Amino acid sequence: MTDLKTLLEQSANCHYHHLCPRQVLGVRMGTYAGELLDLVLPQSDKRLFAFVETDGCLIDGIVVATGCAVGHRTMHVIDYGKSAATFVDTETERAIRVWAHPQSRARAREYAPDAPDRWHAQLAAYQVMPANELLLAQRVTLTVSLAAIISKHGLRVVCDRCGEDIINAREVRVDGDVLCRACAQGAYYAVVTQHSTVNSYQLSVHCERG
Ligand SMILES: [Zn+2]
Ligand SMILES: [Zn+2]
Repeated sequence: MTDLKTLLEQSANCHYHHLCPRQVLGVRMGTYAGELLDLVLPQSDKRLFAFVETDGCLIDGIVVATGCAVGHRTMHVIDYGKSAATFVDTETERAIRVWAHPQSRARAREYAPDAPDRWHAQLAAYQVMPANELLLAQRVTLTVSLAAIISKHGLRVVCDRCGEDIINAREVRVDGDVLCRACAQGAYYAVVTQHSTVNSYQLSVHCERG
């Protein structure tokens, strides 16, 4: 088990070499999840899966403490804008949601009375506060299919509309067509039609398909 100081250093290293209170919170959350689920973390396999409810600093802390990462396909961001995460032991299917105690910010002052401001108070206090004062935790069950999110290695189809590859069974079927979600449900982007900087191959694909 990696000690807190080392985890905080590792987190700061992937965070422009500075430490902030939310990274500390993330490290404490990940470590707490390991205690509650009785898992040795950070993991070097894919047993633990994390749903994290915000992006940003918190995630860097959770990544180093747990070994869960988007790049390992053991982390999903569900962006509720909340300092919270659900940790799932994929072997036992036990899931625990951990979130910042609503009093944690106010209590930080008591644990770091000499800190020059609130930010520094939180930075120091979050490292020493007992887990049950810093965090709350609750057993939960998932309402989404973790098996579907993880999917299977090697799955690949081609979207009938845009011609792009889709992996991990993320396609949808509409009236007999296999479509990517962007084509089926609308994308987060819109193509700039005239003289955009796409290459000719992509342009020709779009032209062929009208
Ligand atoms: Zn930060
Ligand atoms: Zn498509």
